[in-house]
Amino acid sequence: MVTRITGTTSGPATGPVVIKLGGRALEGPGRLADFAADLVAHDRPFVLVHGGGAEVTDWCRKLNIPSQFHEGLRVTDEASLEVATAVLTGIVSSRLVAGLVAGGVPAVGLSGVDGGLLEAEPHPDADRLGRVGRVASVDTAWLGEILAAGRVPVLAPVAADAAGILYNINADDAAAAVAQALGASLLVFLSDVPSVVVDGRTVGTIGVAEATDILDHKDVTGGMRPKLSAALNALGNGVGTAVIGAWSARGDLESLLATPAAGSAVNPTSPVEADLFAGVYPFPRLELVHGRGCHVTARDGRDYLDFVSGIAVNALGHADPGLRNAVSRQMAQLVHVSNLYGNGPAAALAARLVNLTGYDKVFLCNSGAEGNEAALKFARLHAGAKGHQDGIIVAFDGAFHGRTAFALSATATPAYREPFGRLVPGIRFAPFNDAAAFDALVAEEAAAGRPLQAVLIEPVQGEAGARTADPAFLAHLRAATRSANALLLFDEVQCGVGRSGSFLAAQELGIDADITILAKGLGGGIPIGAVLIRNDLAGLLSAGQHGTTFGGNPVAAAASGHVLDVITGPGFLTAVNERAVQLGAGLERLVAAHTSLKRVNGLGLLRAIELKEDAPFDPAALVLAARNAGLLLCKGGSRSVRVLPPLVVAAADIDLALERLDAALTHLESEHLSNPTLALAGKGERS
Ligand code: PLP
Repeated sequence: MVTRITGTTSGPATGPVVIKLGGRALEGPGRLADFAADLVAHDRPFVLVHGGGAEVTDWCRKLNIPSQFHEGLRVTDEASLEVATAVLTGIVSSRLVAGLVAGGVPAVGLSGVDGGLLEAEPHPDADRLGRVGRVASVDTAWLGEILAAGRVPVLAPVAADAAGILYNINADDAAAAVAQALGASLLVFLSDVPSVVVDGRTVGTIGVAEATDILDHKDVTGGMRPKLSAALNALGNGVGTAVIGAWSARGDLESLLATPAAGSAVNPTSPVEADLFAGVYPFPRLELVHGRGCHVTARDGRDYLDFVSGIAVNALGHADPGLRNAVSRQMAQLVHVSNLYGNGPAAALAARLVNLTGYDKVFLCNSGAEGNEAALKFARLHAGAKGHQDGIIVAFDGAFHGRTAFALSATATPAYREPFGRLVPGIRFAPFNDAAAFDALVAEEAAAGRPLQAVLIEPVQGEAGARTADPAFLAHLRAATRSANALLLFDEVQCGVGRSGSFLAAQELGIDADITILAKGLGGGIPIGAVLIRNDLAGLLSAGQHGTTFGGNPVAAAASGHVLDVITGPGFLTAVNERAVQLGAGLERLVAAHTSLKRVNGLGLLRAIELKEDAPFDPAALVLAARNAGLLLCKGGSRSVRVLPPLVVAAADIDLALERLDAALTHLESEHLSNPTLALAGKGERS
């Protein structure tokens, strides 16, 4: 029996597995080959971290260097550090890697020093322990690349600090730190001792509380104390499950990686979230720990197809290697400078945006709301210059422009606005896609001495359920703003950056605005926003009038540069359009097949299905049912569910998503037929 400590969850874990190998855990004829065969049989990403303490002691003895220990850690001076480094990175690592490679495992031997994979810091008890270190940080981007290339990193626990000083790191601690940094689903400590034994009793599956109690109050033997402590550390920092055991023969890995018996606590959400976070989000939430492309893994190990994409943000899906590279390269060079200084990635990004869109100038910021806030301020400056300071800005029913004061003032939904009392004055709402109503509102305001200053509109209203503006309506707004000497502002925070099928939705719909606001997909998951303006407006701005500390941050700009490289690359938007046609047609088929659906809205890969008024379930129930079927979707407005795959979505994933959505709809409809009172089962869920 092995000792298994479950964190907040248990379940069929499929994320990365970190295995700490005791230096001698696999000694003996043929054992390494059998272990390699076991690894090959499990198609999962593995990271191995090895120890080698006994061999370090042997070599110290041969070299007449005394070995001393304090609380299980080797007291390390310059001489024993040299031995430990040579033995771990040379002898043990080479032996393991050679054996694994011979057994068909694509193992790569690395120490923490290589490429700065692990950065060390001195152990807090350095006075006693000497050159023993702890892991200060892990280069997860690089480790992720090695895993993405299908390789199995084999890490020797030797690392340097920022100044290049070498440290010997306890392998249990190193494995825990790596598992924690990777968000591993499973951390396995393999040694020649099969489990933790307390008071003569073998400890099987336990929770964190019991493991803590054992560590604090019991006599733990067999070198298990450091493993328990490292395991608890990892579990407290997001790792799913820790296992302490031995591997003795081929096939043993199966039970080491196995999920806990049915009936043990399965909780896919973190129980402490509601205690920690301001209550502005619905708790508990599904906790996601790992993602690749269009797929994500939750803490309970369950995989989902992610058609939310961080609400239209992850244009390149999860863990895009190019994005990781762009960010980590820039992180290694220059992280932040503020707008007191210039930086290359921001300038390059501004130049790209100008070239791509035909605008003249760019203001870089951090989010959609911040972009709209700036755009609305710029519009008021413009109105002031035209003598229209007492005028109005028109926004539209269903609009969502963000949660900051000005952006919120232009956001229509009463539930978002009303709790906050008085907002920015001078904003009126007109019905969406209704030119006559818009004209009537503008005329009424003008007659009262309040001329039109600007019109702010989403070419596709995302939050409202992918409602697309009629091109004729946009053309009408274009003409009306021109004749009133007012500005037309396009909020393309959600529909921009390729999501509509063109770089800008305005290009897709054939209308030019005076200001366009981008965010979400622009950074592929790294926060960044951009306000695109024309020279006549830019000429009104002067230094100090507006600004931001983080806007144009080099790392965010480098990330965005990579996103633009991909999106503007040959064939990319053609593929987006092909996938959009496939998705649109598939959703239309679902509308034809399911009586609860009214229609498909949106364009490109910004789509929504709208429920009929008399549908026997609401959008929240559908979001929940889709999730149970393995598909993540999010609500849009009061009657719709949005479908927002990453722009890199594969045709097969769209087919799979449609299948799962079909299953979810069938389930809800049949549930209603068999029990009409369950009709609004998901009503409480917000998304
Ligand atoms: N504008 C639109 C069209 C949006 O969809 C959103 C967010 O959903 C925002 C603005 C606000 O963006 P952020 O949440 O980045 O502030």
